This record gives sequence, C-alpha cells and structure tokens, in this order.
Amino acid sequence: MLTVDEVGAIPLFSGLPAGEMERLARTAADLHLSAGEFAVHEGGEAALFAVLAGKIEVVKTFDGIERTLGWRLPGTIFGEVPIALGSGFPGGYRAAEPSRVMRLELQQYYSLAAVSKDVAQKVSALARERMGGLQSITAEPQQPRVTLVGHRWDTACGELRRFLARNQISFNWLLPDTADAEAFWAGRPAFDGPVARLADGEIMENPAVRDLAIRLGLQTRPRGTEYDVAIIGGGPAGLAAAVYGASEGLRTIVVEREAPGGQAGTSSRIENYLGFPSGISGDELASRALQQSRRLGAEILVTRAVAGIRYGHA
Ligand SMILES: Cc1cc2nc3c(=O)[nH]c(=O)nc-3n(C[C@H](O)[C@H](O)[C@H](O)COP(=O)(O)OP(=O)(O)OC[C@H]3O[C@@H](n4cnc5c(N)ncnc54)[C@H](O)[C@@H]3O)c2cc1C
Repeated sequence: MLTVDEVGAIPLFSGLPAGEMERLARTAADLHLSAGEFAVHEGGEAALFAVLAGKIEVVKTFDGIERTLGWRLPGTIFGEVPIALGSGFPGGYRAAEPSRVMRLELQQYYSLAAVSKDVAQKVSALARERMGGLQSITAEPQQPRVTLVGHRWDTACGELRRFLARNQISFNWLLPDTADAEAFWAGRPAFDGPVARLADGEIMENPAVRDLAIRLGLQTRPRGTEYDVAIIGGGPAGLAAAVYGASEGLRTIVVEREAPGGQAGTSSRIENYLGFPSGISGDELASRALQQSRRLGAEILVTRAVAGIRYGHA
C-alpha cells in the first residue's frame, strides 16, 4: 500500500495538492518486483510508472539481441513516450534488483493530467526528449553483425549459417574464392574453414556455435536460480508453452540445444497453421513465436541441451 509521503517523494508528483496525492496513493498500483521481473514488456500497453525503490533496466531487442538502453532510479518515471504517442512501450522495463514501482493506468493518468497542467506539461516535455534519444538509436546504420566466410558445402559453415539465421542475427556470407572474400582477408593469411568476423572487427576462426553465441550476446545461461516452468526444446510446442507460461506471470525458461524454431523453422511454407490463411514460412513463424515469448518475459537459452531431469527437491 502506497503512502502519501512515498507519492510526494516522486518529483513529478511533489507539487500536487494534498487531496490529489492521497488519491494517487489510494488508487495507483504498488508493484514489488524481484530481480529479473518486468514492470512492463516491450509492446506493453501505455501506462505511467514511477520508481519508488531499486533499479529498473530499460531493454530493447535489436536484431535478435537485447540491448540495455538505460536505467530508471528512484524518483524517476517511465511511460511518457507511449502516453504521448498513444502506442505500446518501445522497450521493456525490468528490475535489475528487488524494486518497487507505482503504476498509473492510462485513464488514471488522464484524470491526473486534467487537474494538474504541470504534470501533463512535464510528462510531454520528457516524452519529447526521450523520443529524440530513441530516434538516434534507430537511425544508427544497420551493419550485419557477422561476416562469415566459408565453402558452400562446409558443414561447420552451414551449421553457423543456420544458427545465425534461426537466431535472427543479421550476417553476410562470403564464398572463399570471390573478390569480396579477398577484400575480407585484406592481407591476412586465409584460413581454410569457416571464419566469422564480428561487427567490432574480432575474427573467430572455426568458432564453436556456443562461443559465437556468447560473443554475440545471445543468452546461454539462466539469469535466475529458480523458475516456475522449464521447457525443454524451443520448437513450436516449446515456444507456445513459453508464451502461455510467461503471459500468466510464471517465471519461464526454455532450454534449446540449437536455436529456437525447431523443425518448423526449416519448413519453407506451412499452410495449416491456425490464423495464417495464406500460409507462413517456417522461419517467420519461428521468429514471431520467439519475439512473442521474449516480449512476455520468457528466457530462451540457446546451445544448451538438457541431459537429464532429476525429480524431487534438492
Ligand atoms: C521440412 C519440414 C516441413 C514441415 N511442414 C509442415 C507443415 O506444412 N505443416 C505442419 O503442420 N507441420 C509441418 N512440419 C512438421 C512441424 O514442423 C512439426 O510438427 C513441429 O515442428 C513440431 O514441433 P515441436 O515443438 O513439437 O518439435 P520440434 O519442432 O521438433 O522442436 C523440438 C526442439 O527441441 C530441441 N531439443 C530436442 N531435444 C533437446 C534437448 N535434450 N535439450 C534441448 N533442446 C532439445 C530441438 O533442437 C528442437 O528445436 C514440417 C517439418 C519439416 C521438417
């Protein structure tokens, strides 16, 4: 339960009349988040949040990889951009440590803005400032994350290509005996095996899939120590289970030995999936399912095979 003093400690609300502060304390939701729990996911419905305690990480998925865009500390607010645009949240807000935030639903915010011009003006000014920041991030030139050189029939190269594609990592693939590949080597002795060059220039010769995954920032280790649901395999069945588990607020993890998508990810066209009247490619289905499960907060570990299950409590 929120107190008037806690509401008044948020600079945005500190100038409100006592009656308004009391109303906020009574009606706003008081969320207690454990580390790793989301206050709101990317795409979530517009609402205004204020951080009361702890630390909130702002994350957004670019090119299949989650990036931290910033932090919100006690006293700060978030949600001004979706309110200004009437859109969903452009990024997710996750507790980096045990945290407490208050949430005003959109209608509650509108009622508040109607009685306090000052709050409405401050929220719009902050939205304009933050939209500028978001624009500069999305305007960054999109470089492929990986350039891969390898023979067409090289199985290791094929495995890396499949892994990158199925994890939605952008990459260029060069055949070794082409002019582009010569430019790639730029005087270095050519290596006879798949070679990956990362966006920061690092070269990995014949990399193991997991090493490449780690360097690219894909999740290969659980963030938490306990989960409500653990799902083995990130095919359509596993990802569907992850969507339902995570959307019910369960701490959900998928452990996938390769990359999400399963067999369906390799199908050129699936004609009989409910909701896609003209069919959908397996890649797209897998990619949509992956985005949906991540957006709802499920963790997806790649390159990890489950070797066994031990029943009972440790
Ligand atoms: C070329 C092709 C075309 C297809 N076309 C169609 C179609 O048009 N319509 C249709 O209905 N169906 C189609 N299918 C079948 C459909 O893809 C499968 O029915 C569906 O993928 C099954 O989903 P699943 O999640 O149960 O299993 P899978 O897709 O097999 O996924 C299982 C996942 O679990 C992972 N895994 C397995 N063991 C472990 C372990 N020990 N630890 C960690 N991870 C593990 C695997 O790597 C895999 O990603 C097609 C299949 C193929 C191959």
